Amino acid sequence: MRKRWEKLTEHINKKGLDAMLVTSMINARYFSGFTGDNVTLLITGEKRILFTDFRYTIQAKIQSENFFDVREVQKSREIEALADEIKALGLKRVGFEEQTVSVGRFEEWKCFPCEFVPASEMLAEIRLIKSADEIENIVKAQNISDDAFLDILGRMKPGMTEKEVAVELEYRIKNGGADDIAFDIIVASGENGALCHAVPGLRKLAYGDLVVMDFGSKLNGYCSDMTRTVAIGEPSKKLCEIYRIVYEAQSIALDALKPGISCKALDAAARDYIASFGYGECFGHSLGHGFGLEVHEGPAASSRSEEVLKPGMTVTVEPGIYIEGLGGVRIEDCCIVTEDGHINPVTASKELLIIE
Ligand code: ZN
Ligand code: ZN
Repeated sequence: MRKRWEKLTEHINKKGLDAMLVTSMINARYFSGFTGDNVTLLITGEKRILFTDFRYTIQAKIQSENFFDVREVQKSREIEALADEIKALGLKRVGFEEQTVSVGRFEEWKCFPCEFVPASEMLAEIRLIKSADEIENIVKAQNISDDAFLDILGRMKPGMTEKEVAVELEYRIKNGGADDIAFDIIVASGENGALCHAVPGLRKLAYGDLVVMDFGSKLNGYCSDMTRTVAIGEPSKKLCEIYRIVYEAQSIALDALKPGISCKALDAAARDYIASFGYGECFGHSLGHGFGLEVHEGPAASSRSEEVLKPGMTVTVEPGIYIEGLGGVRIEDCCIVTEDGHINPVTASKELLIIE
Protein backbone atom coordinates (compact mmCIF):
# COMPACT_ATOMS: atom_id res chain seq x y z
CA MET A 1 0.00 0.00 0.00
CA ARG A 2 2.81 2.36 0.92
CA LYS A 3 4.35 2.21 -2.57
CA ARG A 4 0.96 3.06 -4.06
CA TRP A 5 0.37 6.33 -2.26
CA GLU A 6 4.04 7.23 -2.56
CA LYS A 7 3.61 6.88 -6.31
CA LEU A 8 0.42 8.93 -6.14
CA THR A 9 2.30 11.66 -4.28
CA GLU A 10 4.89 11.74 -7.10
CA HIS A 11 2.11 12.12 -9.67
CA ILE A 12 0.40 14.83 -7.59
CA ASN A 13 3.64 16.82 -7.61
CA LYS A 14 4.29 16.20 -11.29
CA LYS A 15 0.82 17.43 -12.22
CA GLY A 16 1.25 20.56 -10.10
CA LEU A 17 -1.54 19.59 -7.71
CA ASP A 18 -1.67 20.23 -3.96
CA ALA A 19 -3.75 17.12 -3.26
CA MET A 20 -5.90 14.35 -4.70
CA LEU A 21 -9.45 13.64 -3.61
CA VAL A 22 -10.14 9.93 -4.15
CA THR A 23 -13.86 9.18 -4.12
CA SER A 24 -14.46 5.91 -5.98
CA MET A 25 -14.49 2.73 -3.90
CA ILE A 26 -12.11 0.98 -6.30
CA ASN A 27 -9.43 3.67 -6.16
CA ALA A 28 -9.90 4.18 -2.43
CA ARG A 29 -9.32 0.45 -1.97
CA TYR A 30 -6.26 0.56 -4.22
CA PHE A 31 -4.59 3.41 -2.33
CA SER A 32 -5.71 2.69 1.24
CA GLY A 33 -6.71 -0.98 1.39
CA PHE A 34 -10.09 0.03 2.85
CA THR A 35 -13.06 -1.85 1.36
CA GLY A 36 -16.06 -0.08 2.98
CA ASP A 37 -18.64 1.59 0.77
CA ASN A 38 -18.48 5.06 2.30
CA VAL A 39 -15.03 6.49 1.75
CA THR A 40 -13.25 9.64 0.64
CA LEU A 41 -9.48 9.98 0.68
CA LEU A 42 -7.67 13.30 0.75
CA ILE A 43 -4.02 12.75 -0.10
CA THR A 44 -1.41 15.54 -0.12
CA GLY A 45 2.38 15.36 -0.17
CA GLU A 46 2.47 14.93 3.62
CA LYS A 47 -1.02 13.94 4.72
CA ARG A 48 -3.31 11.03 4.07
CA ILE A 49 -6.81 11.42 5.47
CA LEU A 50 -9.58 8.84 5.15
CA PHE A 51 -13.14 10.00 5.80
CA THR A 52 -15.77 7.41 6.62
CA ASP A 53 -18.67 7.01 9.04
CA PHE A 54 -19.05 5.30 12.41
CA ARG A 55 -19.84 1.89 10.89
CA TYR A 56 -16.42 1.65 9.31
CA THR A 57 -13.90 3.52 11.44
CA ILE A 58 -12.35 0.46 13.10
CA GLN A 59 -12.25 -1.46 9.81
CA ALA A 60 -10.64 1.54 8.08
CA LYS A 61 -7.87 1.77 10.69
CA ILE A 62 -7.10 -1.93 10.37
CA GLN A 63 -7.25 -2.12 6.60
CA SER A 64 -5.24 1.05 6.02
CA GLU A 65 -2.62 -0.29 8.44
CA ASN A 66 -2.60 3.05 10.26
CA PHE A 67 -1.05 4.79 7.27
CA PHE A 68 -4.18 6.95 7.04
CA ASP A 69 -5.57 9.43 9.52
CA VAL A 70 -9.10 7.99 9.82
CA ARG A 71 -11.77 10.64 10.43
CA GLU A 72 -15.24 9.66 11.50
CA VAL A 73 -17.80 11.88 9.85
CA GLN A 74 -21.51 11.48 9.20
CA LYS A 75 -22.33 11.32 5.52
CA SER A 76 -24.52 14.44 5.83
CA ARG A 77 -21.61 16.42 7.27
CA GLU A 78 -18.93 15.20 4.92
CA ILE A 79 -18.99 18.22 2.61
CA GLU A 80 -18.38 20.54 5.55
CA ALA A 81 -15.60 18.37 6.95
CA LEU A 82 -13.84 18.20 3.59
CA ALA A 83 -14.18 21.92 2.96
CA ASP A 84 -12.77 22.68 6.43
CA GLU A 85 -9.81 20.37 5.85
CA ILE A 86 -9.04 21.81 2.42
CA LYS A 87 -9.16 25.30 3.92
CA ALA A 88 -7.04 24.38 6.94
CA LEU A 89 -4.37 22.81 4.74
CA GLY A 90 -4.46 25.75 2.31
CA LEU A 91 -4.98 23.47 -0.72
CA LYS A 92 -5.52 25.38 -3.95
CA ARG A 93 -5.40 22.80 -6.76
CA VAL A 94 -7.07 19.49 -5.95
CA GLY A 95 -7.32 16.55 -8.35
CA PHE A 96 -10.63 14.69 -8.48
CA GLU A 97 -12.14 11.68 -10.23
CA GLU A 98 -14.16 13.40 -12.91
CA GLN A 99 -15.13 10.09 -14.53
CA THR A 100 -17.02 8.83 -11.50
CA VAL A 101 -18.09 11.85 -9.41
CA SER A 102 -21.77 12.61 -9.98
CA VAL A 103 -22.87 16.00 -11.24
CA GLY A 104 -24.83 16.43 -7.99
CA ARG A 105 -21.81 15.83 -5.79
CA PHE A 106 -19.64 18.08 -7.91
CA GLU A 107 -22.22 20.87 -7.54
CA GLU A 108 -21.94 20.55 -3.76
CA TRP A 109 -18.19 21.01 -3.96
CA LYS A 110 -18.66 24.48 -5.44
CA CYS A 111 -18.38 25.92 -1.93
CA PHE A 112 -14.86 24.50 -1.54
CA PRO A 113 -12.07 27.08 -1.42
CA CYS A 114 -10.03 25.40 -4.20
CA GLU A 115 -9.88 24.65 -7.91
CA PHE A 116 -10.71 21.10 -8.98
CA VAL A 117 -8.57 19.46 -11.65
CA PRO A 118 -9.75 16.32 -13.51
CA ALA A 119 -7.34 13.48 -12.61
CA SER A 120 -9.12 10.16 -13.29
CA GLU A 121 -6.53 9.35 -15.95
CA MET A 122 -3.67 9.90 -13.52
CA LEU A 123 -5.08 7.25 -11.16
CA ALA A 124 -5.77 4.84 -14.03
CA GLU A 125 -2.15 5.22 -15.15
CA ILE A 126 -0.83 4.33 -11.70
CA ARG A 127 -2.99 1.19 -11.67
CA LEU A 128 -1.81 0.07 -15.14
CA ILE A 129 1.29 -1.77 -13.95
CA LYS A 130 0.45 -4.61 -11.57
CA SER A 131 2.66 -5.60 -8.66
CA ALA A 132 3.63 -9.20 -7.83
CA ASP A 133 0.86 -9.27 -5.19
CA GLU A 134 -1.77 -8.15 -7.64
CA ILE A 135 -0.62 -10.71 -10.22
CA GLU A 136 -0.76 -13.45 -7.60
CA ASN A 137 -4.39 -12.59 -6.81
CA ILE A 138 -5.30 -12.55 -10.50
CA VAL A 139 -3.70 -15.95 -11.11
CA LYS A 140 -5.45 -17.45 -8.08
CA ALA A 141 -8.78 -15.97 -9.20
CA GLN A 142 -8.24 -17.55 -12.61
CA ASN A 143 -7.44 -20.93 -11.03
CA ILE A 144 -10.85 -20.85 -9.35
CA SER A 145 -12.52 -20.14 -12.71
CA ASP A 146 -10.65 -23.00 -14.38
CA ASP A 147 -11.72 -25.46 -11.68
CA ALA A 148 -15.34 -24.28 -11.89
CA PHE A 149 -15.28 -24.60 -15.66
CA LEU A 150 -13.92 -28.17 -15.62
CA ASP A 151 -16.62 -29.09 -13.14
CA ILE A 152 -19.45 -27.53 -15.14
CA LEU A 153 -18.31 -29.22 -18.36
CA GLY A 154 -19.02 -32.58 -16.76
CA ARG A 155 -22.56 -31.46 -15.95
CA MET A 156 -23.67 -29.69 -19.09
CA LYS A 157 -26.13 -31.59 -21.24
CA PRO A 158 -28.83 -30.95 -23.82
CA GLY A 159 -32.04 -29.68 -22.22
CA MET A 160 -30.29 -27.61 -19.56
CA THR A 161 -31.13 -23.91 -19.79
CA GLU A 162 -28.50 -21.20 -20.20
CA LYS A 163 -29.56 -19.84 -16.83
CA GLU A 164 -29.02 -23.19 -15.13
CA VAL A 165 -25.49 -23.34 -16.55
CA ALA A 166 -24.79 -19.78 -15.37
CA VAL A 167 -26.14 -20.42 -11.85
CA GLU A 168 -24.16 -23.68 -11.52
CA LEU A 169 -21.01 -21.93 -12.67
CA GLU A 170 -21.56 -19.07 -10.22
CA TYR A 171 -22.09 -21.53 -7.37
CA ARG A 172 -18.84 -23.30 -8.22
CA ILE A 173 -16.88 -20.05 -8.44
CA LYS A 174 -18.13 -18.87 -5.03
CA ASN A 175 -17.80 -22.29 -3.46
CA GLY A 176 -14.28 -22.52 -4.91
CA GLY A 177 -13.15 -19.67 -2.67
CA ALA A 178 -13.79 -16.55 -4.75
CA ASP A 179 -15.08 -13.36 -3.06
CA ASP A 180 -17.62 -13.20 -5.86
CA ILE A 181 -18.06 -13.57 -9.60
CA ALA A 182 -16.12 -10.84 -11.40
CA PHE A 183 -19.13 -9.84 -13.56
CA ASP A 184 -22.49 -11.24 -14.62
CA ILE A 185 -21.83 -14.58 -16.27
CA ILE A 186 -22.61 -14.87 -19.98
CA VAL A 187 -23.95 -18.19 -21.25
CA ALA A 188 -25.21 -17.82 -24.82
CA SER A 189 -26.34 -20.87 -26.75
CA GLY A 190 -27.24 -21.42 -30.39
CA GLU A 191 -28.29 -18.22 -32.17
CA ASN A 192 -27.96 -16.30 -28.87
CA GLY A 193 -24.21 -16.71 -29.28
CA ALA A 194 -24.36 -13.88 -31.82
CA LEU A 195 -25.14 -11.48 -28.95
CA CYS A 196 -21.69 -10.67 -27.53
CA HIS A 197 -23.07 -9.73 -24.12
CA ALA A 198 -26.11 -11.99 -23.95
CA VAL A 199 -27.95 -12.42 -20.65
CA PRO A 200 -28.44 -16.14 -19.83
CA GLY A 201 -32.08 -17.01 -20.40
CA LEU A 202 -34.42 -19.97 -20.50
CA ARG A 203 -33.24 -21.27 -23.86
CA LYS A 204 -32.37 -24.95 -23.57
CA LEU A 205 -29.07 -26.27 -24.86
CA ALA A 206 -29.76 -28.32 -27.98
CA TYR A 207 -27.83 -30.60 -30.32
CA GLY A 208 -25.87 -28.61 -32.85
CA ASP A 209 -25.45 -25.55 -30.60
CA LEU A 210 -22.27 -23.74 -29.85
CA VAL A 211 -22.39 -22.32 -26.31
CA VAL A 212 -20.35 -19.21 -25.45
CA MET A 213 -19.46 -18.97 -21.76
CA ASP A 214 -17.75 -15.80 -20.51
CA PHE A 215 -17.05 -15.57 -16.80
CA GLY A 216 -14.58 -14.55 -14.14
CA SER A 217 -13.77 -14.87 -10.46
CA LYS A 218 -12.88 -12.12 -8.03
CA LEU A 219 -10.31 -12.79 -5.33
CA ASN A 220 -9.16 -10.18 -2.79
CA GLY A 221 -10.79 -7.68 -5.13
CA TYR A 222 -8.93 -8.87 -8.26
CA CYS A 223 -10.80 -10.10 -11.33
CA SER A 224 -10.06 -12.82 -13.84
CA ASP A 225 -11.87 -13.10 -17.16
CA MET A 226 -12.12 -16.04 -19.58
CA THR A 227 -14.37 -17.26 -22.38
CA ARG A 228 -14.72 -20.72 -23.84
CA THR A 229 -17.10 -21.87 -26.55
CA VAL A 230 -18.16 -25.51 -26.50
CA ALA A 231 -20.43 -27.59 -28.75
CA ILE A 232 -23.47 -29.64 -27.80
CA GLY A 233 -23.30 -32.55 -30.22
CA GLU A 234 -21.65 -32.24 -33.61
CA PRO A 235 -21.91 -28.62 -34.86
CA SER A 236 -22.48 -27.65 -38.51
CA LYS A 237 -19.56 -27.22 -40.92
CA LYS A 238 -19.99 -23.45 -40.85
CA LEU A 239 -19.81 -23.30 -37.03
CA CYS A 240 -16.72 -25.53 -37.08
CA GLU A 241 -15.16 -23.19 -39.62
CA ILE A 242 -15.73 -20.04 -37.55
CA TYR A 243 -14.50 -21.84 -34.43
CA ARG A 244 -11.25 -22.74 -36.18
CA ILE A 245 -10.74 -19.16 -37.45
CA VAL A 246 -11.30 -17.63 -33.98
CA TYR A 247 -9.05 -20.26 -32.39
CA GLU A 248 -6.24 -19.50 -34.83
CA ALA A 249 -6.74 -15.73 -34.59
CA GLN A 250 -6.46 -15.98 -30.81
CA SER A 251 -3.28 -18.01 -30.98
CA ILE A 252 -1.72 -15.55 -33.48
CA ALA A 253 -2.49 -12.67 -31.09
CA LEU A 254 -1.12 -14.62 -28.10
CA ASP A 255 2.11 -15.26 -30.04
CA ALA A 256 2.42 -11.51 -30.59
CA LEU A 257 1.68 -10.61 -26.97
CA LYS A 258 4.91 -9.30 -25.48
CA PRO A 259 6.25 -5.97 -24.18
CA GLY A 260 6.86 -3.39 -26.88
CA ILE A 261 3.85 -4.25 -29.05
CA SER A 262 1.19 -1.57 -29.35
CA CYS A 263 -2.40 -2.39 -28.45
CA LYS A 264 -3.31 -1.42 -32.00
CA ALA A 265 -0.87 -3.95 -33.50
CA LEU A 266 -2.04 -6.68 -31.14
CA ASP A 267 -5.66 -6.06 -32.11
CA ALA A 268 -4.68 -6.08 -35.80
CA ALA A 269 -2.90 -9.43 -35.48
CA ALA A 270 -6.20 -11.19 -34.74
CA ARG A 271 -8.46 -8.86 -36.72
CA ASP A 272 -6.54 -9.13 -40.00
CA TYR A 273 -6.56 -12.90 -39.77
CA ILE A 274 -10.32 -13.02 -39.21
CA ALA A 275 -10.86 -10.48 -42.01
CA SER A 276 -8.78 -12.60 -44.42
CA PHE A 277 -11.58 -15.19 -44.30
CA GLY A 278 -14.24 -12.55 -44.98
CA TYR A 279 -15.48 -12.35 -41.37
CA GLY A 280 -14.06 -8.91 -40.55
CA GLU A 281 -17.55 -7.44 -40.16
CA CYS A 282 -18.49 -10.20 -37.73
CA PHE A 283 -15.80 -9.18 -35.22
CA GLY A 284 -17.20 -5.88 -34.03
CA HIS A 285 -15.55 -5.43 -30.64
CA SER A 286 -11.98 -4.76 -29.52
CA LEU A 287 -9.54 -7.62 -29.08
CA GLY A 288 -9.32 -7.12 -25.33
CA HIS A 289 -8.93 -4.98 -22.26
CA GLY A 290 -6.86 -4.68 -19.13
CA PHE A 291 -8.24 -6.07 -15.87
CA GLY A 292 -7.42 -5.91 -12.18
CA LEU A 293 -9.58 -4.47 -9.42
CA GLU A 294 -12.06 -3.83 -12.24
CA VAL A 295 -12.81 -6.36 -14.92
CA HIS A 296 -12.44 -3.65 -17.54
CA GLU A 297 -9.60 -1.21 -17.02
CA GLY A 298 -6.65 0.07 -19.04
CA PRO A 299 -5.09 -0.65 -21.44
CA ALA A 300 -7.71 -0.99 -24.18
CA ALA A 301 -6.51 -3.53 -26.76
CA SER A 302 -8.37 -1.77 -29.56
CA SER A 303 -7.64 -0.76 -33.13
CA ARG A 304 -7.38 2.87 -32.03
CA SER A 305 -5.08 2.49 -29.03
CA GLU A 306 -1.47 3.56 -29.53
CA GLU A 307 -0.59 2.41 -26.01
CA VAL A 308 2.50 0.18 -25.94
CA LEU A 309 2.37 -2.85 -23.66
CA LYS A 310 4.82 -2.97 -20.77
CA PRO A 311 5.72 -5.67 -18.24
CA GLY A 312 3.12 -5.77 -15.47
CA MET A 313 0.21 -4.72 -17.67
CA THR A 314 -2.75 -7.04 -18.02
CA VAL A 315 -4.69 -7.67 -21.20
CA THR A 316 -7.33 -10.11 -22.35
CA VAL A 317 -7.14 -11.66 -25.81
CA GLU A 318 -10.69 -12.37 -26.91
CA PRO A 319 -11.41 -12.40 -30.63
CA GLY A 320 -14.86 -13.52 -31.75
CA ILE A 321 -17.08 -14.05 -34.76
CA TYR A 322 -20.80 -13.36 -34.37
CA ILE A 323 -23.35 -14.18 -37.07
CA GLU A 324 -26.94 -13.05 -36.62
CA GLY A 325 -29.40 -15.93 -36.69
CA LEU A 326 -26.63 -18.53 -36.54
CA GLY A 327 -24.54 -18.07 -33.42
CA GLY A 328 -21.13 -17.02 -32.26
CA VAL A 329 -17.69 -18.03 -31.08
CA ARG A 330 -15.43 -16.22 -28.65
CA ILE A 331 -12.26 -17.52 -27.00
CA GLU A 332 -10.70 -15.42 -24.27
CA ASP A 333 -7.65 -15.70 -22.05
CA CYS A 334 -6.62 -13.08 -19.49
CA CYS A 335 -2.87 -12.49 -19.67
CA ILE A 336 -0.19 -10.60 -17.82
CA VAL A 337 2.68 -9.03 -19.78
CA THR A 338 6.13 -10.03 -18.48
CA GLU A 339 9.70 -8.91 -19.30
CA ASP A 340 9.98 -11.37 -22.19
CA GLY A 341 6.43 -12.29 -23.14
CA HIS A 342 3.38 -12.97 -21.05
CA ILE A 343 1.85 -15.27 -18.47
CA ASN A 344 -1.41 -16.92 -19.49
CA PRO A 345 -2.97 -18.33 -16.31
CA VAL A 346 -5.94 -19.89 -18.15
CA THR A 347 -5.45 -23.65 -18.34
CA ALA A 348 -8.77 -24.73 -19.93
CA SER A 349 -8.31 -26.38 -23.32
CA LYS A 350 -9.19 -24.44 -26.44
CA GLU A 351 -9.73 -27.41 -28.74
CA LEU A 352 -13.42 -27.52 -29.69
CA LEU A 353 -15.03 -29.67 -27.04
CA ILE A 354 -18.10 -31.61 -28.09
CA ILE A 355 -20.54 -32.49 -25.29
CA GLU A 356 -22.78 -35.41 -26.23
ZN1 ZN B 1 -14.82 -12.12 -20.65
ZN1 ZN C 1 -13.05 -9.74 -21.34
